[in-house]
Amino acid sequence: MTAVPTSADVLPTDASEFRALDEHYSAHNYHPLPVVIAEAFGSRVTDVDGREYLDFLAGYSALNFGHRHPDLTAAAVEQLNRVTLTSRAFHHDQLGLFCRELAELTGTEMVLPMNSGAEAVESAIKVARKWAYQVKGVPEDGAEIIVAGSNFHGRTTTIVSFSTDSEARAEFGPFTPGFTVTDYGDASAVEAAITERTAAILVEPVQGEAGVVVPEPGYLRELRRTCDENEVLLIADEIQSGLGRTGELLASAHDGIRADLYTLGKALGGGILPVSAVIGSRDVLGVLRPGEHGSTFGGNPLACAVGRAVVRLLGDDHFPHRSRELGAHMHDRLGALVGHGVTAVRGRGLWAGVDIAEDGPSGRAASEALAERGVLCKHTQDNTLRIAPPLVISREDLDTGLDAVTEVLGR
Ligand SMILES: *Cc1c(COP(=O)(O)O)cnc(C)c1O
Repeated sequence: MTAVPTSADVLPTDASEFRALDEHYSAHNYHPLPVVIAEAFGSRVTDVDGREYLDFLAGYSALNFGHRHPDLTAAAVEQLNRVTLTSRAFHHDQLGLFCRELAELTGTEMVLPMNSGAEAVESAIKVARKWAYQVKGVPEDGAEIIVAGSNFHGRTTTIVSFSTDSEARAEFGPFTPGFTVTDYGDASAVEAAITERTAAILVEPVQGEAGVVVPEPGYLRELRRTCDENEVLLIADEIQSGLGRTGELLASAHDGIRADLYTLGKALGGGILPVSAVIGSRDVLGVLRPGEHGSTFGGNPLACAVGRAVVRLLGDDHFPHRSRELGAHMHDRLGALVGHGVTAVRGRGLWAGVDIAEDGPSGRAASEALAERGVLCKHTQDNTLRIAPPLVISREDLDTGLDAVTEVLGR
């Protein structure tokens, strides 16, 4: 056992002491791999011992543009030297520009800036409920929202109220009512669950945490049709699937549909700070009035400046294109493992869920073995590896990482 450096003037000197410090002072809500990262650039990170790794997780897609993309850090530094926080009590010169540029990029009309992804989802739920009462005429406190099984939308008490993951819920009740769960991918179950009180359908176009689960083509289109026929809002949670990850700016585009509201987060902050947003039409987001919703940090100048730089990076097809090209290559290579230590590979673009065969290592053991080989990724569920390298990764580094995956999982 490494001694915990509990005295404030003793600094940790090696990786095991850093781990002991975390273990002692930080709440145990994560079980990280033993790597202690000290620096990063692009798709590479370096630990406190100077060992380099390939990042095959990319901060759960918060790092789509890699670590410290020069355009993003430059925008952040420039803004750090001007003004970082005003609160929304005053206007500042970045908010309107960020909102206009993000709306133009995504073909929407209005932006509600928040910070974390969970806050964006919470905000979308609140907007949908208010819309249901004000526009649709649902009796107050009666609004229902239909969600999908195996969803992941964040960790607040309301959001875990409609999670189907017992770990995410156990002993966190009492839960928020007003949600109906239907199986992911089953559009007719959604149609059957609609009532005159239904405000919205909330869905991930690709379920990341569930194991990078891609629904059958047509699922989102059917949901769109059901929403149109029943005066119900379609809310696409694109916090992980959006902003280039799947080879499209928004993953909903794979099914040729547009949502009424989208939640964005993760990559919107460029891996620098938490930036999230609900985006959508004026008819819907316009229901909010002053005083009804807010956030001290939401839409702050620094967040907006970084968000604007992210929007600029996404201004052409460069990153989605990289995701498609590199993703096709990655899926070719991973697909070759099916039947050889891997039972299934799912995903879109540079994003894959790899199910490990029963006689293979656990997801945790596979992640650890990969880290030993200099590749950082993390399992989701028990036996699924989630692979999501930054979209800036070179084909050579991608192949190096996939060689390690083949070594660890291949049979
Ligand atoms: C990560 C994630 C969230 C929550 O985002 P946080 O920033 O962790 O609160 C919500 N929805 C989806 C689809 C996500 O992947």
